[in-house]
Amino acid sequence: MNGEFIPVSIKKKDGLFSENSSVISAQNMDSLKAFVYKSVVDMAESIYDGNIEALPLVNGSDMPCTFCDFGDICGNGDGSVCRGTDLEKQTEADRILGKEKSKDKGKGKSK
Ligand code: SF4
Repeated sequence: MNGEFIPVSIKKKDGLFSENSSVISAQNMDSLKAFVYKSVVDMAESIYDGNIEALPLVNGSDMPCTFCDFGDICGNGDGSVCRGTDLEKQTEADRILGKEKSKDKGKGKSK
């Protein structure tokens, strides 16, 4: 059985997720939720502290200013000042998800 909208398939033989399925355990989902929650709280506190500069995240060749309607008022409409990915946070997210890839494959059961 293959997922129509998400990359998940279940093996007929034993009802477990296939090796290529993108699944995580409930425990690691909790870790991921805690990580996301902390990230959102950190962002909110940073904004509350007055850190509101127009500092778009540039990922590869994707420049958000190209599609943004606020370029005329933000003072950085050409995106000349920008930031890259927070590697520390990226590493933490990868650690949580990376664990999943090696530890949780094949653990799920279909109904
Ligand atoms: S145009 Fe200004 S507000 Fe819009 S993404 Fe770029 S820096 Fe941010």
